[in-house]
Amino acid sequence: MSSEPLVVWIDQELCTGDGLCVQYARPVFEMDLDGLAYVKDAGDELLVEPGAKTVVPVDLVKDVIASAKECPGKCIHVERASDFVEVAGPLA
Ligand code: SF4
Repeated sequence: MSSEPLVVWIDQELCTGDGLCVQYARPVFEMDLDGLAYVKDAGDELLVEPGAKTVVPVDLVKDVIASAKECPGKCIHVERASDFVEVAGPLA
């Protein structure tokens, strides 16, 4: 895995609400009141727009990629920030 900047987004349509992603990377993922997972920005702000993208903090790249691999809903998409090619997730 290269160290180039990555972004991550969640397809809320497929989220099962189990919260696994939050266990992997609490600074990046959070469950909202609707019981689905959303990403947060660098300022810890929850991005409630479905499919919103956020930058993956360098120190959490491994955890976020692991969450994409383990996500039961197969709905976490990790992409290269430069061209949005998926590097982990259902389309990778
Ligand atoms: S791991 Fe996947 S299915 Fe589970 S809460 Fe997170 S995004 Fe939703």
